[in-house]
Amino acid sequence: MDKATIKITDLKRIVFGEAPAEYMLEVFGRTIIIYFFLLLIIRLLGKRMSGQLTTIDLSITIMLGAIVAPPMQAPDRGILLGIFILFLVFLFHRDLSWWGVKNKKIEELTFGNMSILVKEGLLQLEEMSKTRVSRAQLYSLLRQKKIYNLGEVDRIYLEACGMFSIFKAAKPKAGLSLFPSADKGVHDYQHKVAENVYACQHCGATEEVKEKDTKCKNCGAQKWDSAVI
Ligand SMILES: [Zn+2]
Repeated sequence: MDKATIKITDLKRIVFGEAPAEYMLEVFGRTIIIYFFLLLIIRLLGKRMSGQLTTIDLSITIMLGAIVAPPMQAPDRGILLGIFILFLVFLFHRDLSWWGVKNKKIEELTFGNMSILVKEGLLQLEEMSKTRVSRAQLYSLLRQKKIYNLGEVDRIYLEACGMFSIFKAAKPKAGLSLFPSADKGVHDYQHKVAENVYACQHCGATEEVKEKDTKCKNCGAQKWDSAVI
């Protein structure tokens, strides 16, 4: 487009664009055709596209949006090019999925990996920082599941698709309270295990603490909270 023809006061161009009014009719036809092919491709991509999105599904979803826009809207683009790119995406996706099934490394690379965030009531701090999951996020998740003590948890997995799986311990242990310590009223009605048994606020480990500056045997932190059951 020529720079000199762009004027901010040119309302006709801003509202209707460069194409003549009849082009609206053409857009109607283009949209029907592209929509049909988009549905076909999503159907071919498989069931997973409509469920939980993996990294690949998400990137393909974004790409599909970008691919279908020009052939529906731009008068200088043919619809055949859009349809051609849609089929290319389908082929790449199919081959990559097939390769992932054959090769575990490729699957991990493209679909992601599962991480263990909690093991027997202990926060796995390294995994949490790697997956960028915060304590606040985990605690809120557990509270929603009516779990108020970290000792009740055996495992929390972060699945490759981004979902959390929680497994409760067969026998709940004493552990870190999941109520915010600032909320005194709620915090205090949880049952304390013993006067000098504390839970590390950093990793959830429990131990007997005689002095406030005792270092946690598991992670070395010095912030304690009364262990609850
Ligand atoms: Zn600790």
